[in-house]
Amino acid sequence: MKVLITGGAGYIGSHTTVELLEAGHEVVVVDNLCNGSEVALRRVEDITGKTVDFVCADIRDREAMDAVLAHHDIDAVIHFAGLKAVGQSVSQPLTYYENNVNGTLVLCQAMEAAGVRRIVFSSSATVYGSEAPVPYVETTPRGTTSNPYGTSKAMVEKVLEDLVEADERWSVALLRYFNPIGAHPSGKIGEDPQGIPNNLMPFIAQVAVGRRDELTIFGGDYATVDGTCERDYLHVVDLAVGHLKALKAVSERGVSVYNLGTGQGVSVLQMVNSFTRVTDVAVPYRVGARRAGDLPAFWADAAKAEKELGWVAGKSLDDMMADTWRWQSGNPEGYGG
Ligand code: NAD
Ligand code: UDP
Repeated sequence: MKVLITGGAGYIGSHTTVELLEAGHEVVVVDNLCNGSEVALRRVEDITGKTVDFVCADIRDREAMDAVLAHHDIDAVIHFAGLKAVGQSVSQPLTYYENNVNGTLVLCQAMEAAGVRRIVFSSSATVYGSEAPVPYVETTPRGTTSNPYGTSKAMVEKVLEDLVEADERWSVALLRYFNPIGAHPSGKIGEDPQGIPNNLMPFIAQVAVGRRDELTIFGGDYATVDGTCERDYLHVVDLAVGHLKALKAVSERGVSVYNLGTGQGVSVLQMVNSFTRVTDVAVPYRVGARRAGDLPAFWADAAKAEKELGWVAGKSLDDMMADTWRWQSGNPEGYGG
């Protein structure tokens, strides 16, 4: 297939580009580089020995999207492009809705005009809201989201569902990611957050490499295995393979929804300890106050993706730690180093 990947110069998009190229698909990447890097795409070429067709453009630019779709015979779109910092979305809601929701509307309008009606969308476990029973199952309705980022994901899911409702020629896969971490085993591509990382794994990696003094664990008094929050961490390469499998889902019409996770909760302390056990590098930490809006524990029921797509998150937590460290220690300053 020929696949348009929006946001392909970012963390998950670059790993997915590798998996698609290695599986023999043709790929066109559109990215405005607001949080991605062209170096990542050059490294993707290095890993795969194939050329990445890259267009530097914003998905909100209708003319640019029309031109991309006119110049390439695209079979399906994998849509990663968007903003993802939860805290920033609270202080800049308009920016988030404009980018994530309006960006998707413009993309879909351009797709409709070009007759391309297959889309795989990067959604998130956050759409289940705070009240959903754990583990999260796809049949549980979307809940009340607690920040504009999460709301933008829920809104786009609804937009795409309505599109299928209105025109049965559309095929939509909504992939609800849990917590992707890790890096490509080559150590050439990985997560490269701008500024202070919001997420746990890059923070641990930056402490380990000496860019930050210590990790603050947000809360040690939750009703969990050791008082720290539990999440379902999955390897980014497994997640990338999930997109490859989801291309199968969009060859059939309608909406399909899949959780992509391991089905296992792991606590923050367990993450720190397992990083040190695997890498032999200490991660100084202190237990601080809870972070507003954090849920104590959630993980996926990932049985549907296994049954229907034949997808399982097969890589272990040790793989996630070793691959994170190979990337971070080899690229202490990320792509800018
Ligand atoms: P990322 O920031 O590394 O990648 C997103 C890419 O999209 C970046 O390269 C950025 O430059 C590009 N982009 C943003 N707005 C754009 C626009 N208007 N036009 C063109 N390009 C644009 O993030 P990621 O971690 O790879 O996440 C990819 C997708 O997965 C996002 O939609 C994110 O919300 C979603 N997601 C991520 C996680 C996670 O933990 N990383 C979890 C659930 C869902
Ligand atoms: N976390 C932490 N310190 C940090 C960053 C995150 O203790 O510097 C915790 C956070 O409270 C949560 C877990 O690590 O329990 C995962 O956080 P992340 O932001 O990576 O993912 P999310 O909260 O979006 O699931």
